Amino acid sequence: MNPVTVPFFISHQGCPHTCVFCDQRIISGSNGALLTAEQIIERIGLWRATSGDRSLEVAFFGGTFTALPEEIQACLLAPLQPLLEVGTVGSVRISTRPDCIDADHVSWLSKKGVRTIELGVQSMDDTVLAESGRGHTAADTLNAIRCIKSEGLTVGAQLMPGLPGDTPTSSLASLEKVLSAGADFLRIYPTVVLQGTELARRYAAGTFVPLSLDRGVSLCKMLLQRAMQVCVPVIRIGLQADHGLNTESVLAGCWHPALGQLVRSQLYYDLVKRFVSPGQSATVCCHPARQSDVIGMKRSNLRSHAERGVQMQVVPDVALNRDEITIQTENSTVTYSIVSDLHYSIHEV
Ligand code: SF4
Repeated sequence: MNPVTVPFFISHQGCPHTCVFCDQRIISGSNGALLTAEQIIERIGLWRATSGDRSLEVAFFGGTFTALPEEIQACLLAPLQPLLEVGTVGSVRISTRPDCIDADHVSWLSKKGVRTIELGVQSMDDTVLAESGRGHTAADTLNAIRCIKSEGLTVGAQLMPGLPGDTPTSSLASLEKVLSAGADFLRIYPTVVLQGTELARRYAAGTFVPLSLDRGVSLCKMLLQRAMQVCVPVIRIGLQADHGLNTESVLAGCWHPALGQLVRSQLYYDLVKRFVSPGQSATVCCHPARQSDVIGMKRSNLRSHAERGVQMQVVPDVALNRDEITIQTENSTVTYSIVSDLHYSIHEV
């Protein structure tokens, strides 16, 4: 059973950088105030009351945890120690930058109950990183992943396709590099232009062209499929549509409140399109958890198939894996997978 995540947002605290895309206040929804021990314990108590038998994972998101002054890191982790000892909290997760962590720091965090470290990798292309004002290199990321894995902790990599200087080819190359380095899970956040950022200024000046929603979905489906091929979970696609992130704060870029569903739906659409010809009728069976993806948002996949002359009904089948669909037509019944039966070319993005 997956643990319940108790999220704390630590905002821009501790970060000396100004990445071109970042307005941490909007992304994390936090006003920058640091949490007190009482607030932390109270929040955990509220989550404990509603989480049943599931273990709790306390997660410090946003900002750069390991760049906070050491005494503040210690203060944030201190109230968790007795809760970890008695099992009220099972583990701790933090997020940070690749250049703000080393072996000693990982070792210290591990002793304090941290089991997962998420890295804001964004890209593994040094030119993209420089043009985006990240202030670290791909080598920093490789080093950080090595340190975290050596301590036996889980490492997540956040990738941001569509940054200045990025291309679909370099996005896929970045993915391959973090996979080879041993990332245990991924988040894919296509670049969006937020009001008040350097990227917004460049966008207004015409010196930065963001990924459109369509191109972003095309690229993300390739990234997702590749991660699935090597069984590395993608735990999130697209920034969350809460905490002030909305159609006013997002000026441009690949953003949609349910981007992950759009991406998965596109994979299933492509799979049906590949194997069901215009003029055919098909019954498509899928895992129940994927039914809405196969149908598409607001039945968009069904409509698009109908427009190309394919009548299709979707039925759940618990015997199928989540990546599979069985297509029944007049002449055949065959099971296909979005992982192995779709072959994309980077030129499609
Ligand atoms: S390092 Fe993180 S918090 Fe700091 S400016 Fe960049 S994205 Fe924002």
